[in-house]
Amino acid sequence: MALKLYNTLSRKKEVFRPLKGKKVRLYTCGPTVYWYAHIGNLRTYVFDDLLRRVLEYNGFGVKHVMNITDVGHLTSDEDTGEDKIELGAKREKKTAWQVAQFYTNAFKKDIKRLNIKSPTLWTRATDYIKEQIDLIKVLEKKGFTYKIADGVYFDTSKLKNYGVLAGSQKRKLKPGARVEVVAGKKNPEDFALWKLSPLLVTRQMEWLSPWGKGFPGWHTECVAMAVKHLGLPFDIHTGGIDHISIHHTNEIAQSEAAFGKHLARFWLHGDFLTLQEGKMAKSESNIITLKNLVEKDFNPLALRYLFLTSHYRSKLSFSWRTLKGTQNALAKLYQRIGEIKSLKTSPKTSQVLNVKKVKEKFLQFISDDLDMPKALALLWEVLKDKKLSPKEKKELLFDFDRVFGLKLAKVKKLTVPQEIKKLLDLREKYRAEKNWKLADQLRQKVQKMGYGIRDTQEGPKIKKL
Ligand code: AMP
Ligand code: ZN
Repeated sequence: MALKLYNTLSRKKEVFRPLKGKKVRLYTCGPTVYWYAHIGNLRTYVFDDLLRRVLEYNGFGVKHVMNITDVGHLTSDEDTGEDKIELGAKREKKTAWQVAQFYTNAFKKDIKRLNIKSPTLWTRATDYIKEQIDLIKVLEKKGFTYKIADGVYFDTSKLKNYGVLAGSQKRKLKPGARVEVVAGKKNPEDFALWKLSPLLVTRQMEWLSPWGKGFPGWHTECVAMAVKHLGLPFDIHTGGIDHISIHHTNEIAQSEAAFGKHLARFWLHGDFLTLQEGKMAKSESNIITLKNLVEKDFNPLALRYLFLTSHYRSKLSFSWRTLKGTQNALAKLYQRIGEIKSLKTSPKTSQVLNVKKVKEKFLQFISDDLDMPKALALLWEVLKDKKLSPKEKKELLFDFDRVFGLKLAKVKKLTVPQEIKKLLDLREKYRAEKNWKLADQLRQKVQKMGYGIRDTQEGPKIKKL
């Protein structure tokens, strides 16, 4: 079955095949480490993780590179404003390096708690200054740059198809209109490749370059690091939708200008998580972090479950109430799996065909541009299916969980104390004798001891209350 992915570049779903062999080369724009990741950022990283797991489920190997932006990301997209990391250092009275390390560690902890697979390779922007300078030198040699008092800029008017990725979402900027513009910029879309340290200001992070002391522009780091580790073009580049019109557009521009080649074959973008009162941004005060969730006794995997309930290309509106709902759904799922694990029934061979069919359906859903809501609905259908044996259900659910990542295999089987088991057996005896009154009294007794009984076709099921 062919894997189809929506390519922002062509604005349609396309059949995906790796450019070389069976190994997919995947690059993800990682976090800017000046503050905790918010749950919106984390939605994008869960989307990346689901993509990676779907690729693996489809039998591909994946080399996944993710950067850590620890320099050069300014507070404004217009190449003005302060470097976010240096700003964080002022706020926290630490060095820029300490701030970057602290929030890198916090991010890694977050993704572990969300069961997001670690990338094959982490790349920190400050470890690749030489590669970024080399890239700018190539662009300079090919005549795509100009230098002004503020730094070295990319001249977007020199590139014929600048902005193809954004299409109709292209920024329409007028010089001087509302936004602060760098003096001397030739075209509003031009962007900084190398920013010079301001006169009389010593930045904590600055390096010597052929153009003077300064630091690389944010859009340069991803190109330099991706090309170094994944080659050109590589298979898939991902990020949030806000990266389409500027960051990724400018990454493509540099790669086409420097190497005459497209940076990546597929561009995938995750839509935003919004709060009921609107957009969530790290720079605004309305952020919710994973730490906030854990403090309110939420399991981080309930957030992962919430992300599975909507397609990655749809907006998802967050509220504590919906999260509570998904936490309950996850608890119910774990409960059902605990029950299944404690049942000792052998598989019925006649159902093998069914298992195969269900697996095909699952593959079909996830291979249709990662349709997780449909795949998740299938998981519940499997649980309810009367034709599948507990063993078959277990096999299917654990197989699906290679993609969902809800740690289903770790769910403990339900252990029922001997005393309760005896009462259950007795109740079954009464039920067989149609002695409903005594059976009911026993149910109440068991309930008082902290266990609920649910009568099903497979027999009574017990759950801890
Ligand atoms: P940043 O650390 O700001 O560079 O952002 C990290 C990632 O989160 C990027 O891929 C952004 O596109 C993405 N992102 C930012 N805000 C949101 C949001 N509210 N919902 C989903 N993704 C987001
Ligand atoms: Zn990037």
